[in-house]
Amino acid sequence: MSRHGTMFVAVTAILLMTTSSWGVDTPASSKATIEKRAFGTVEGGQPINLYVLRNQAGMEVSITNYGGAVVSLKVPDRTGKLADVVLGYDNLEGYVADKSYFGAIIGRYANRIAHARFVLHGASYTLAKNDGENELHGGTKGFNKRVWTAKEISGHDGEALELTYYSKDTEEGYPGNLTAKVTYTLTPKNELKIEYQATTDKETVVNLTNHSYFNLSGQGNGDILNHRLTIHAQEFSPVDSTLIPGREPRGVQGTPFDFSQSEVIGARINEDDPQLKFGRGYDHNWILNPKGEHPLSLAAELYEPASGRVMEVWTTEPGLQFYSGNFLNGTVHGKEDKTYGYRSGLCLETQHFPDSPNHPAFPSTILKPGERFHSTTVYKFLAR
Ligand code: BGC
Repeated sequence: MSRHGTMFVAVTAILLMTTSSWGVDTPASSKATIEKRAFGTVEGGQPINLYVLRNQAGMEVSITNYGGAVVSLKVPDRTGKLADVVLGYDNLEGYVADKSYFGAIIGRYANRIAHARFVLHGASYTLAKNDGENELHGGTKGFNKRVWTAKEISGHDGEALELTYYSKDTEEGYPGNLTAKVTYTLTPKNELKIEYQATTDKETVVNLTNHSYFNLSGQGNGDILNHRLTIHAQEFSPVDSTLIPGREPRGVQGTPFDFSQSEVIGARINEDDPQLKFGRGYDHNWILNPKGEHPLSLAAELYEPASGRVMEVWTTEPGLQFYSGNFLNGTVHGKEDKTYGYRSGLCLETQHFPDSPNHPAFPSTILKPGERFHSTTVYKFLAR
């Protein structure tokens, strides 16, 4: 079977669907599949695709090689009913115009770099100021706005999509030719596994994440304030008014930032707390491991009580940015005619700490020639 030239390619098998007695489509017996569909063209005529991965249990994730964005993610509730739990757009134009980073891969440096500059080995590097005085999410044209080369892989771990992007020396002001590889795997256990790798030919900094906005009630279905969140961290990074972290971490105990036990997100989000004011809600880095990368560990758990959907976040990364969608304001027109209001989705971005290149005491984000950056994050879906 050819991988190219067709609008619709089923790589491994056909998903068999039946219609149950109450008229809801449920997968009867299925095999894992990956399909490639045309998703439009970018300027210059380059074709962009949408890859639809399904597992044996009927979970489905769609990913585009434009910005490596997760376009949709369909997971069951406690009755088995699927809903799409990520915010996004129906078409490529939405992703090209997007300013919210919906579902995208973020690089070369996720989150902020203060004053859009850093020093490496005595050389000073100047980046784009695309967030006030700071640089945010890789600059004016970060990895979220780049076309990635895609390769479909059928592995024993599930169906996978390997995306590669070659970021040239001095692109967005960063040193070194960097090859970034991001592999999305949909496992039989309802996990979306994301593996990040990078190599460089000159010393540089790298911090890669995924910027999916989750709403476990289903995208476009109200806000996320009723969701319960657990973050397995005792400290977070307090920020200044421009959302740059200070040197010292702060204990979460006794603050609205304590999610060490499951808490309702909306319970304390509007408290009169200077840190919540700076973030307009939650927009902070929780410190999972102050020493740097660690074995794959449970970082967070999100639970939506009405549907029973649960999402666990596992990662090897030392930090987690919990962003409660405070900049969404109802002006974005999303999938299936939904508009995305204030706090209608939340991000749990696994990462190294913001502004690490300017904080020698933070776990290092420096990548040297001959080294390979490697990190893994798993979003696992359950229901109870
Ligand atoms: C940042 C927010 C920012 C958002 C962009 C998050 O990762 O922490 O401050 O507004 O991305 O949509």
